[in-house]
Amino acid sequence: MAPPLVTSDGLALGTLCVVDHQPRTLDDAQRETLDALARQVMRLIELGQREQQLHREEEEREVILAYLEHRNHELEALAGELRVRADTDNLSRLGNRSAFDARLDEDLLLTRDHESPLSLVILDLDRFKPCNDQFGHQVGDRVIRTFADILRSVSRPTDFMARYGGDESAIILPLADRRAAADVARRVLDAVERTDFAPCDTRTSIGVASLEPPRGDDNGEELLRRADQALYAAKAAGRGRIAINGVDDVIEIIEPTASRSALSRPDSPI
Ligand code: GH3
Ligand code: MG
Repeated sequence: MAPPLVTSDGLALGTLCVVDHQPRTLDDAQRETLDALARQVMRLIELGQREQQLHREEEEREVILAYLEHRNHELEALAGELRVRADTDNLSRLGNRSAFDARLDEDLLLTRDHESPLSLVILDLDRFKPCNDQFGHQVGDRVIRTFADILRSVSRPTDFMARYGGDESAIILPLADRRAAADVARRVLDAVERTDFAPCDTRTSIGVASLEPPRGDDNGEELLRRADQALYAAKAAGRGRIAINGVDDVIEIIEPTASRSALSRPDSPI
């Protein structure tokens, strides 16, 4: 007698045989034991199969997990890249106008909470339009990029620089009062003096305004208006200068120290 080896879903795999040196006849109890042994064998076979299956599934899961983790890293990197791209001005690689607006609002709240000063510096290239008109937009673009490099080189790690529009740039300086902001502006003027923008002879006029510190009803628009007012005064005073909008909107003009060319003269053509 050889009991069949049958899977739990009825598939017969073979039979269980017991072998001895001499022929025997099994009694009922021995047959039952043999049947039980056959069932036990089947359980062990099925258990082994299930274990193998689980192992395969586990390996598959690990491969899928590793793939998903990899994709996740890629997507996170892409999201970061897109965020930076959305905040960056293509030409200058400085922040763009919308990033500037958002940053100014953030820094206003932060400095107000910490009762720290907040300054804004607005810079406009002097007589840039004639340079563009005479030498073309590509030359003008190069001037804008070189000027952006200057801003990057003089700013502090906490500052945020943006191309505000056209030939106008801005620097937000948290934790800087108007004197500290004017120092940064001075470094820009000095760096511009040392830079060769050929064929253009570019300079810049700079307006500075500060909140020391921002109060409850102060806002970014008002700070911008005051920095713009200072910029206008710097232009009117002959360009190539810094103007600081101080207490009660009294404007102080800081004259240029070095003189590279006659560009700062109000009547200079380029
Ligand atoms: P001011 O001294 O009073 O600042 O006069 P300006 O000649 O610099 O003229 P203004 O600031 O009024 O005009 C800015 C010029 O910048 C106008 C335009 O020809 C030029 N411009 C604006 N955007 C770009 C740009 O993306 N690339 C280039 N190449 N030129 C630009
Ligand atoms: Mg200009």
